[in-house]
Amino acid sequence: MTTEFKNYINGEWVAGVESRPNINPSDTSDVIGLYAQADAAQTEGAIAAAQAAFPGWAFSTPQQRFDVLDQVGSELLARREEIGRLLSREEGKTLAEGMGETHRAAMIFKFFAAEALRVGGETLPSVRPGVSVDVLRQPVGVVGLIAPWNFPIAIPAWKIAPALAYGNTVVFKPAELVPGCAWTIAEILSRTALPKGVFNLVMGPGSQVGATLVDSPKVKALSFTGSVGTGRRIIASCAGRQAKVQAEMGGKNPVIILDDADLDVAVNAAVQSAYFSTGQRCTASSRIVVTEGIHDRFVDAVVAKLQTLKIDHALKAGTDIGPVVDQRQLDQNLRYVAIAQKEGGRLAWGGEVVERETQGFYQLPALITETRNDMTISREEVFGPVANVIRVRDYDEALAVANDTEFGLSAGICTRSLKHAAHFKLHSQAGMVMINLPTAGVDYHVPFGGTKGSSYGPREQGSYAREFYTTVKTAYTFPG
Ligand code: NAD
Repeated sequence: MTTEFKNYINGEWVAGVESRPNINPSDTSDVIGLYAQADAAQTEGAIAAAQAAFPGWAFSTPQQRFDVLDQVGSELLARREEIGRLLSREEGKTLAEGMGETHRAAMIFKFFAAEALRVGGETLPSVRPGVSVDVLRQPVGVVGLIAPWNFPIAIPAWKIAPALAYGNTVVFKPAELVPGCAWTIAEILSRTALPKGVFNLVMGPGSQVGATLVDSPKVKALSFTGSVGTGRRIIASCAGRQAKVQAEMGGKNPVIILDDADLDVAVNAAVQSAYFSTGQRCTASSRIVVTEGIHDRFVDAVVAKLQTLKIDHALKAGTDIGPVVDQRQLDQNLRYVAIAQKEGGRLAWGGEVVERETQGFYQLPALITETRNDMTISREEVFGPVANVIRVRDYDEALAVANDTEFGLSAGICTRSLKHAAHFKLHSQAGMVMINLPTAGVDYHVPFGGTKGSSYGPREQGSYAREFYTTVKTAYTFPG
């Protein structure tokens, strides 16, 4: 019998109005469970519970917050393999990647446990005699958290942990495709000393659960990660009702390979960030900008490397790259490969659907060469294992091409020239810059986020998360 997983509202496990199967993309006959789907009314109930719990949690002690977050971090660490396996089963990352992401989520909870102990403000002398000024950081209120499917545990962690650490109450909506890890976090939180209503999980469709969170006047701040189209609509709605909003969206991240790059470092950086995690990372480098002196050697070495990679069931030993997340995403990947070829690109390797022992969404990583930066493949996010190579003359042209995009999440350069690396660090228009490293793969204790069309609002992660999850109050005191 398939297990049914419920929503968590006001400290109770509540059945949804219907349920949705969570299906393994490596093996579509494997149903992980049936997950409750809330409607607008149930979401309103969760928001009301979070609102009622806010005054208590807002004035909880730092020790209470530390204890809850530290407990979650410790349990995630202890259950890293089991939860990593669940993650791989529902999203399709390899087990190593699933375990790595779970480890990261644990570290994020532990980081914000400690941050709860140092929610400092500032005390300044007033310009008036005898008066002092305190700048206080206080929680915002009920926050709505909306997550995408591609990091089923890390993204929920980097929204839930700071929200609670800074004294907010939470209504969290995971992506429809990956409710398993989200439910696991809720279950762990349900066994901590968190008062009822402080954290609520509502699974269900974006059009109902998500839209209710976005439009509710009781939700004072909304943190969203997902696609550009959804993000822009959410930003407009939240701004219209003066709610705080933070949105992390798409990318078309470039990696520049210069003539003087170490070939092994360059191939590793490009292949890692373009194709691992099936290319389903917002920080994936999908545009590979290569100077002409190294171009042919680099392309040959990337193709040779791709030929050695095993694309198979995410949980199978030896798999390097798991399946695409679902049929819709697979169709989108195939469509972009076809468009790229139609516009003059050359498919140097892969791109096609392949069959494995189990029925899943398997695609060979695609490398498309002879592309230009004005082609569709260079302009639009594919969000799959598809990358294109753009040949350029020199560093100056490479920098111009890298920056010529509506996005600005992550950007990389592979070079042994300190001069070019230092110049790129300053002149890349992306929010995160990588030198001789993959564009994907970031630390958990520093800010994460982009520029231009990729991001909106204050940064996530590290102590910079405080900006979004707190509000500033300026208090003047005259002792009398
Ligand atoms: P999506 O926009 O389809 O969905 C994201 C979330 O929004 C889901 O939970 C969905 O249910 C919800 N949603 C959908 N419609 C809604 C509505 N009308 N109101 C409120 N919520 C709604 O994105 P996705 O396909 O899940 O994720 C892939 C995208 O996420 C890619 O574009 C990727 O680049 C981006 N992403 C960005 C980052 C980042 O930090 N920049 C990280 C991961 C993923």
